[in-house]
This record gives sequence, structure tokens and C-alpha cells, in this order.
Amino acid sequence: MYSIGIDVGSVAAKAAVFDGQKIIAKEIMPTGWSPRESGTLILAQALRAAQIEKDQVKKIVGTGYGRVALSFIDKKVTEITCHGRGAHFVAPDIRTVIDIGGQDSKVIKLDAKGNVVDFIMNDKCAAGTGRFLQVMAHALEMDVSDLSNAGKDAVPQNVNSMCTVFAESEVISLRANGASKESIAAGLLEAVCKKTYSLVSKVGVVDKVFFSGGVSRNPLLVELLGEKLGVRVFSSDESQFLGAIGAAVLGYDE
Ligand code: ADP
Repeated sequence: MYSIGIDVGSVAAKAAVFDGQKIIAKEIMPTGWSPRESGTLILAQALRAAQIEKDQVKKIVGTGYGRVALSFIDKKVTEITCHGRGAHFVAPDIRTVIDIGGQDSKVIKLDAKGNVVDFIMNDKCAAGTGRFLQVMAHALEMDVSDLSNAGKDAVPQNVNSMCTVFAESEVISLRANGASKESIAAGLLEAVCKKTYSLVSKVGVVDKVFFSGGVSRNPLLVELLGEKLGVRVFSSDESQFLGAIGAAVLGYDE
């Protein structure tokens, strides 16, 4: 028997299939305009990838902002709980998770069993989130996945605005005044690092940190956060799937 976790986020819909021991398939696609449609499609994609039929699935748990739109799930669970459970499954000794997704950032503290003991969330605006980086990358005429490479050897340009609208204008002016794309990319990642640091400072960090969410796919940001926090910060191939993995594991546990 299997369980499936579906995490329909603001940017990407993710699914993870769990066989009780390990994650046997992980799938991702853009959420697009309809969380309901992408949730349904990602479920079908995950079943295909795992080569199983729907009637072999004991439980489907939904999470992410789009979970309310999913009619086929057995249960809805918050992203905080799912990210905590996912982190504990992937790295059982983890006590602090920093999650930066498409439109919010969170810091989650866990106990030794992976239960959430504290968390803080910045969801008032897109400042410092994946959407912020996507808009800035677009202003620099690059893909969000190029920001890390672009910025890694550059001297960071100071970027003062964190509001997505103002920062986009600032990036355009900096470019017009001759600043290189590389130095702006480095400056943007420093700005996101500082913003995340101030969020983390409110709850504190315990030991090493698991960086989750799509923004953790930026290696330079992982490195900058580690330097700023003074602890080991790591991400993995599972990072963007942590919510879906946690949902699948919670479903199986039930
Ligand atoms: P959500 O759950 O809100 O949909 P995700 O955790 O899936 O968000 O993260 C989406 C964000 O991840 C995007 O807004 C983008 O900034 C970032 N992202 C996606 N792929 C990459 C990549 N290859 N490199 C850097 N950042 C990425």
C-alpha cells in the first residue's frame, strides 16, 4: 500500500509517493491559474511515475495554499506541519527548517520527534520570497535558476528596496546606470539573505538548518545563509518536495 502527498503551492504543484519505507516518486509542475487542475494533473503524473494504480493508495494528503481546491484528497494538513514532518523524515536530527517558497517564508522549530514546537511566517508580501526573485531575474533578463551562478563571483551591488515593485524599478535603474547583472544578482541574494536572517532571529536557530522550498535551489543563497547564521545550512534534491513528502508520510502514519 502507498500514500501520496500533494503540495499545491503558489508557484509549483508537487507530489510525493511513499511506500512506507521510502519516497518512490516525486513530481513537480507549475501550479498555473487553477490549483484544482494542477493538483489533479500532478496526482496522475505521480501515479504514472510510481507505476501504481489509484486503488493501491491508502491515503492522499493535501497541503499548500491550493489544498482547499482539491476534492480528491482524504485530508488537508498545514504546510508548517508537513514541512516539519518532511524534514524529520529526510534528516531526523534536524531541529530548524527555513522554508522559502513562491510567496512566503517560514522558520519552523522541531523537537526530536519532528513535532513543530515553534514557527514564524512572513506572508504579508512577496519581499524576499521566490516570487520576488522571479520578478528580479526577469528584470535582469535571466531565469531565476541563473541568479546563483551569475552572482557567485561578483561584488554585490547594494539593493535597498525589498518591496517587489520598488526593487524592480531599482534593478532597472541600476542597470541603466551601468551596474553589471552579476553584481545586481549578488546584491539581490544578499538582500534576501538579510531579510531571512531577521526572520530567523525572531525564533532562533538550533544546530544545523534544513533549507526547504524552491528558493533553496539557489546554492549561493544556501552558502550566504550559512555564513550569516554561523551554522551549517543545507538543502537537498528533496528540498522543494518537503511539504509533499511530509504530507505523504503523515498520510501513511495514519
Ligand atoms: P510554492 O510552494 O509557493 O509554489 P516552491 O517552494 O515550489 O513555492 O518554490 C517556488 C520558487 O522556487 C519560485 O518562485 C522560484 O523563485 C524558486 N525556484 C524554482 N526553481 C529554482 C531554481 N532552479 N533555482 C533557484 N530558485 C528556483
